[in-house]
Amino acid sequence: MAEDLSLRRNRIFERDDFRCVYCGQQFEADELTVDHVQPQVRGGDHSGGNLVTACRACNTLKGHRRLSDFLRESGPARQNFFTYATHVWPRILRALREDLEPKP
Ligand SMILES: [Zn+2]
Repeated sequence: MAEDLSLRRNRIFERDDFRCVYCGQQFEADELTVDHVQPQVRGGDHSGGNLVTACRACNTLKGHRRLSDFLRESGPARQNFFTYATHVWPRILRALREDLEPKP
């Protein structure tokens, strides 16, 4: 049985305290979206460790860029993400940090 999507969304919001992981602000549920850390097209799944809470404004700002590209361009979003996205799988966080390290 597929889990009810709105229930799943609400559980992610509650877990993240209704706080957008990119701007660090808290919102009402109808202002929030669930964002895939690793996009499905790149092998990301629907597990809780791949999902974070993002406000509509930040999700729009991020657009279709890879998360590492978005975080590289936005210092505050980068700082907030690593502060608040504490439920993301460690291997995904590790890969992100590696991606964000300056390349020689
Ligand atoms: Zn936001």
